[in-house]
Amino acid sequence: MRLRARHYRTGQRLDFICERGVIARTEPVSMIAADVEAEWIAPAFCDVQINGCEGISFNAPTLSAEQIRRVVHVCRLHGIAQLCPTLVTASHEALMHGFRTLADACDADAELNRAIVGIHLEGPYIAPEDGPRGAHPKQHVRPADWDEFRRFQDAARGRIRMVTVAPESPGGIAFIEKAAQAGVIVALGHTGASGSCIRDAITAGARISTHLGNGSHAMLPRHDNYIWEQLADNRLWASIIADGHHLPASVMRCILRVKTPSRLILTCDASSLAGLPAGMHKVWDQDFEILPIGKIVVRGTSYLGGSWAFTELCVANMLKLGETSLSETIDLASNGPRALLGLPPRSLAVGEPAEAILFDSGPKRDFHLRATVVGDLRVT
Ligand SMILES: [Zn+2]
Repeated sequence: MRLRARHYRTGQRLDFICERGVIARTEPVSMIAADVEAEWIAPAFCDVQINGCEGISFNAPTLSAEQIRRVVHVCRLHGIAQLCPTLVTASHEALMHGFRTLADACDADAELNRAIVGIHLEGPYIAPEDGPRGAHPKQHVRPADWDEFRRFQDAARGRIRMVTVAPESPGGIAFIEKAAQAGVIVALGHTGASGSCIRDAITAGARISTHLGNGSHAMLPRHDNYIWEQLADNRLWASIIADGHHLPASVMRCILRVKTPSRLILTCDASSLAGLPAGMHKVWDQDFEILPIGKIVVRGTSYLGGSWAFTELCVANMLKLGETSLSETIDLASNGPRALLGLPPRSLAVGEPAEAILFDSGPKRDFHLRATVVGDLRVT
């Protein structure tokens, strides 16, 4: 397969020849017809937080391998070649089903195993109070439990790569120490912790804030609060949902400037309603509405009910902010998450797996995805 575009870092227009799933060589642009052509080429996205899409939830008690394949395919349509399926707060049995199903599907299907670079467990060891808990079901929130987590990890056959916890959860700091020692990336989120508790969590090994600025109280003390504490510590990375609804532009700018592109990643946090048409939808026993602007709200309120967007839109929004270069913006959603997960960086070099996005972007800092290439497959 011959891909023709400008390298997202150097600006050099080249032909990238992919053979047997890897970038075999690059050549100067020739008269040979390209299979895919666009203005730019870059490594495909990696998103650490995908809950599902198109009505499929990784939390569903009926989750099947076929549904997992569908989510992976839809993600690829939006430029995401690697993802962490994310399971949120639920009963022990429901979570065990999700982990087993994901592990079985990955073991049986090399394509899924390639795309699913880890599982993210968000909850159930989070704050029970309204606000920080977000839309997680209160009845399943519980104190941090390392023994239960080990059973989850056994069911997932070691695939849980990231866990989001509230450090003030009873046993939270000891849990963070154990998880970090076991090589699991600990994220702080859905928390109402004090400043000192946030500092203790970071010292215990927490590496990143999950969707900083969301899953929090509507009102906070202006100085002593967990958002400042998480912003202030350089040891902590942050993820943000740049879908245009979860955070205003000014907050995204401030988080970016404080964390710098080296410690910030973008996630779409796609919910099970992502990608569905506008209208009313029921998830479990709760009613949601997808507004025509791509915003999901709890029906009849202005409360956000998850994210409708995919990483592609988050990158487009970030690019429009004008704070980062094109290559920095792409890396916020590709090499940044890969670095967090301990995966090797990608630069479209010869010998790397062929996992690329081809897109158009001009002086107006717009972003139009043209194709995703994964191995020998073109997904558009
Ligand atoms: Zn969340």
